[in-house]
Amino acid sequence: MRGRFAPSPSGQMHLGNAWTALLAWLASRSQGGSMVLRLEDLDPGRSRSEYAAGIMEDLQWLGLDWDEGPDREGPNGPYRQSERRQLYQEAVERLGQQGLVYECYCSRAELHVAEAPHAGESEWVYPGTCRCFSREQRQKKLRSGRRPALRLAVPDQTLTFTDGLYGEVRQHLPSACGDFVIRRSDGVHAYQLAVVVDDGLMRINQVVRGQDLLTSTPRQLLLYRLLGMQPPAFTHVPLLIAPDGHRLSKRQQSLSLAALKQTGVRAERIIGYLAWKAGLLEQDQSAAAADLVHRFSLDLIPRQAVVVHDTEILGE
Ligand code: GLU
Repeated sequence: MRGRFAPSPSGQMHLGNAWTALLAWLASRSQGGSMVLRLEDLDPGRSRSEYAAGIMEDLQWLGLDWDEGPDREGPNGPYRQSERRQLYQEAVERLGQQGLVYECYCSRAELHVAEAPHAGESEWVYPGTCRCFSREQRQKKLRSGRRPALRLAVPDQTLTFTDGLYGEVRQHLPSACGDFVIRRSDGVHAYQLAVVVDDGLMRINQVVRGQDLLTSTPRQLLLYRLLGMQPPAFTHVPLLIAPDGHRLSKRQQSLSLAALKQTGVRAERIIGYLAWKAGLLEQDQSAAAADLVHRFSLDLIPRQAVVVHDTEILGE
């Protein structure tokens, strides 16, 4: 069993990140598995090394350790996506050799005009504007100075998988997302591609992550298939939400681990609170992550988003 944490160091770790990290860690450790830490720092505009350092410190503080990754060299570690661009580019080329990659010159502004959200999906469906461009059309766009993104032409297929918590998930790729970006126009490889290359090469066989990524999984399964790699088992876990129904985010400073630590809250308090919300403890009490390993069961975890009140942790 090989699980992983894959945080994006684009902000301080907050309670929602601690929640998914705890559940991913417990899912692996409860089966005697190992954990890989991979910093998803591909986007130079958003990633900062001080956030990466903070996330590693917070994970350790929470007692969520890892066996491979920064500072703990696995066979090919440490793992920082920013150091693995060559691997992503090789994957782009392999997909290109299959005739599945095309240049897209659409600007974001144009897409917002051209695209309509698909019912039930928060994502935009790319209308395929550049898919059938002739050579002349492409050259004209290039001459205009625009740099293209690269998109994967998705087949007219419905992909299906069985999620560890949500059961069977089906998605018809053309109507759910359309042809998706695998390399942005600024040359940065897209999350969808990088995550598959990495989880595949790192032989991750169990991915536990937030429910917001459930709709990305069919795209990733397509990439596994096209790249000839074995996909992991996927379990998506509900998101933590604020009482107003919005998901917890990096903007809610009061629930960043740094802010919680400053109020003197102990790691066991946070772990115990999250474990209670996950159904692993009957009441809100302090607990160490290591003491929860034998209690972990997917059957206990709620399927609906989990409401957190900061007063529950911080007191009135
Ligand atoms: N890096 C992503 C994030 O922090 C998670 C990716 C994944 O778990 O697949 O949201």
